[in-house]
Amino acid sequence: MLEMFKPTWMVERAYEISPAALKRQGIRAVFSDLDNTLIAWNNPNGTPELRAWMEELHQAGIPLIVVSNNSRARIGKAVQKLDLPYVARSLKPLSFGITRARKKLGLATSEVVMVGDQLLTDVAAANHAHIRSILVKPLIETDKWVTRPNRFMEKFVMQDLQKQYPDMDWQEELK
Ligand SMILES: [Mg+2]
Repeated sequence: MLEMFKPTWMVERAYEISPAALKRQGIRAVFSDLDNTLIAWNNPNGTPELRAWMEELHQAGIPLIVVSNNSRARIGKAVQKLDLPYVARSLKPLSFGITRARKKLGLATSEVVMVGDQLLTDVAAANHAHIRSILVKPLIETDKWVTRPNRFMEKFVMQDLQKQYPDMDWQEELK
């Protein structure tokens, strides 16, 4: 049960994940959560670091696709400024959105990775879809109220994970 929430890697910020490291892992496309992973409600345009990372991925020929549980209307508005493709209503922690996006790209499970700030949705969805995952720290701590009970649960799950997998820790790069 617990291993359903275990991320493959833990990197504090999405933009610390280098295209070179992704390529070394055989990863050809990156799926990402939107809220608190790429953008925060107080900075909907994305930081300069995010934009630089998007450009790096683009140069490396690695597509970045938003996989979100939000509605098309909400995501469309949010990603308009970032100009990213997206999958709406992805039903995380279920695998549907990830698998749909992966099949659209014609890639194998080993060739995509899911990046997100929540174990209970993003990481669980990646594990259900049999792909690797990268947990990042939420961009800001003060969340929209809807995700607060989730955050509370996250803490407990993280504690259990770290007890069971003492090697699990934040790292600078994918290793
Ligand atoms: Mg999120």
